[in-house]
Amino acid sequence: MTRFKSHMDQALEEARAAATRSEVPVGAVLVGPDGIVLASAGNRTRELIDPTGHAEILAIRAACQALGSERLPGCDLYVTLEPCPMCASAISQARIARVYYGATDPKSGGVAQGPRVFDHPQSHHRPEVYDGISAEACEDLLKTFFQEKRS
Ligand SMILES: [Zn+2]
Repeated sequence: MTRFKSHMDQALEEARAAATRSEVPVGAVLVGPDGIVLASAGNRTRELIDPTGHAEILAIRAACQALGSERLPGCDLYVTLEPCPMCASAISQARIARVYYGATDPKSGGVAQGPRVFDHPQSHHRPEVYDGISAEACEDLLKTFFQEKRS
């Protein structure tokens, strides 16, 4: 057994970088079964002019390209915010083993609330889910971003 090492700090770095690009500060890191980082990404919906440009989707795409596989069994996803229904569905399709997320998202989350994608009978694969990882840092980043946008 390899010792558990959180990759949330790297996800937070991706989220901070997204904020500097005026993107909603969400970051994601995909880690392979051997503990090696396969991909990391932050939101790029504005830059790519693409509503699917969420951090999780971009990280999944990059990791699949790196492995030459459309599935990522045994992989762990770290993401600073609860995945939305679109990303939760992609996580399920990719057969990701474990999801670690930071802040909960009462407005747009699709894991612990809303459609609860992984618990849905149509879900083909349910990853293990761990919430509240570095939650405060993840929330602060989002709060600051939206406060500065308003002022
Ligand atoms: Zn999403």
